[in-house]
Amino acid sequence: MREWLGVKIHEYQAKHILKEYGIAVPEGVMVTSAEDAVRAAGSMHFPVVVKAQVHVGGRGKAGGVKLAHDADDLKRHASAILGMKIKGSAVRRLLVEPGIAIQREIYVGMVMDRARRYPCLMASAAGGVEIEQVAAETPEKILRIHIKPALGLRAYQVRRAAGFLDIPAGVTKAFAAILSGLYRVFMDKDCSLAEINPLVITVDGELIACDAKINFDDNALYRHPEHEEFRDDAEDEPLEVEARRARVSYVKLNGRIGCIVNGAGLAMATMDIVKHFGGEPANFLDIGGGARAEQVTEALRIVTADPAVNTVFFNIFGGIVRCDRVAEGILAAFRQLNLKIPIVIRLVGTNEDKARELLRGTNLIACATMSEAAKKAVELSARRPT
Ligand code: GDP
Ligand code: MN
Repeated sequence: MREWLGVKIHEYQAKHILKEYGIAVPEGVMVTSAEDAVRAAGSMHFPVVVKAQVHVGGRGKAGGVKLAHDADDLKRHASAILGMKIKGSAVRRLLVEPGIAIQREIYVGMVMDRARRYPCLMASAAGGVEIEQVAAETPEKILRIHIKPALGLRAYQVRRAAGFLDIPAGVTKAFAAILSGLYRVFMDKDCSLAEINPLVITVDGELIACDAKINFDDNALYRHPEHEEFRDDAEDEPLEVEARRARVSYVKLNGRIGCIVNGAGLAMATMDIVKHFGGEPANFLDIGGGARAEQVTEALRIVTADPAVNTVFFNIFGGIVRCDRVAEGILAAFRQLNLKIPIVIRLVGTNEDKARELLRGTNLIACATMSEAAKKAVELSARRPT
């Protein structure tokens, strides 16, 4: 449904997983050129469907899903989609599949309900491209069933979902198998989201997963080395890919104030306080507890590589790290990168006096408190030309 935190994979990869769990999916082929799309369709009956493979939703509405009635049609659509950008993501891969003759579109999905602390099955008869709107405007059209992991998905829960969706008697068994498969995928693979939208009832009365979306919980990645093969760096923000290599936790945002912070909680608070004083953070960044000199340099390089950044705000709490060490790191990095933008620094904790001494007489602006520093950063950023 909406974008959840976690590691995203492509539809064709998600469908491979569903298939392993016994869920019917179209027999599609992933290709990267229009010629290969036509070749892949060679053994399929037309119409075939050609679909952009990108890590963002809403492809259908953006023109990234097309039915093709013959090879020429397919070639034309495939080239057009390969030239598209969907919500900023360039399309590099396509999925070519036999078209489905759709009778009904249903939504089924599994999410983790953090508030209730249970995996939650969601189902709606109003499946298809408008599900976001359904969730926002008519939430009563979405059934939510919480599942106790110790008990698993129970038959009565499946019956309740089937009744709610008005599943025809002929496909209730297949429907039960799909829900059970989806639940097992969600649990086995440590997903943060596993959804089929639409789950289609075909005109022949069969159930098939027409679209699939799976996100993995990144906190559980350590026990799934096999998920590494799904990685598609081209889909990720390039600076985020670099940050991952540097072992810095970085998320790009849209503001102008680059934030460099030690500790995830302080990093969140830093973004809040920047906003509080009327600024916009350019990123979330946590250099970790250690805050070694190399990490400081890497972090400063990554943050300032974003052309939107016109001011940097360091917010460091010297609990485990010594502030003078961090100040040395910042100074070295500042010189090495030959930066021209203002850098505001709030450094408190062990050896903070020494740190302030080191920064005196430089272009770096040391502040005593977090709010003073945030205010200063917002002020300097607003004053600079865009
Ligand atoms: P999304 O927009 O990214 O969610 O992409 P989907 O794969 O869900 O496709 C969007 C819509 O295109 C679906 O809800 C269907 O209405 C339609 N669609 C997708 N595949 C087919 C197909 O094989 N046959 C037909 N007739 N329609 C399809
Ligand atoms: Mn869809």
